[in-house]
Amino acid sequence: MTLGSNVAVRLVMLGPPGAGKGTQGARFARTHGLPKISTGDILRDAVQAGTEMGRVAREVMDAGRLVGDDIMIGIVRERLERPDADAGFVLDGFPRTVVQAQALDGMVDEKAPLVIVDIEVPMEILVRRLAGRKICGSCGVGAPPGAAVCPKCGGALVQRNDDNENVVRERLLVYERSTQAIQEFYGRRGTFRSIDGDQTEDSVAADLAAAVASALGARR
Ligand code: AMP
Repeated sequence: MTLGSNVAVRLVMLGPPGAGKGTQGARFARTHGLPKISTGDILRDAVQAGTEMGRVAREVMDAGRLVGDDIMIGIVRERLERPDADAGFVLDGFPRTVVQAQALDGMVDEKAPLVIVDIEVPMEILVRRLAGRKICGSCGVGAPPGAAVCPKCGGALVQRNDDNENVVRERLLVYERSTQAIQEFYGRRGTFRSIDGDQTEDSVAADLAAAVASALGARR
């Protein structure tokens, strides 16, 4: 199944840390010429830039907990108001709470409803993936497994502050606690789909494209 280039896609990627939301969201966004909006990336940029928001977020992120809803909703509202998000977007890492999900509904109109895709991956695979995950110390981009240097700028790879084992466990616990409520919030919508994230990157990408096409088709 393929999508026409003129179809506005407002895609919400759900799934635990390490499920591949970032990788798959970036790939889908590139293919369809959409901005990928990652709240984790926005926060990490703020931390690196040393802004007030970055200082507040840093401690919370390093402990694996969630940054406050008001801050997150403000960040996303501001980002979605930029013109490049008019024709659609891919959201990665937001919403993480029902309050955020309700706020997001208020930010988008009825014309192009949200498509929500949940990437499912078993817990033991997530822990393994997160412990081995590396990002670029210079530009922050995620590196593919086994890469020696950053594929984008050649910079040295480092582990994310919040990918060490204790914080990983806390992040997965935080995710488990909030996920049920989010799934209940979105689960009954005709545009909600689940896909299997424990496959090759290409297979997950194909399933994601098919899920989005089917969700958009279902509402016509
Ligand atoms: P991520 O890169 O999506 O795993 O996010 C990294 C960290 O940023 C999370 O563990 C949270 O501390 C924070 N964060 C990112 N997005 C959100 C959100 N929507 N709500 C609350 N905290 C967030």
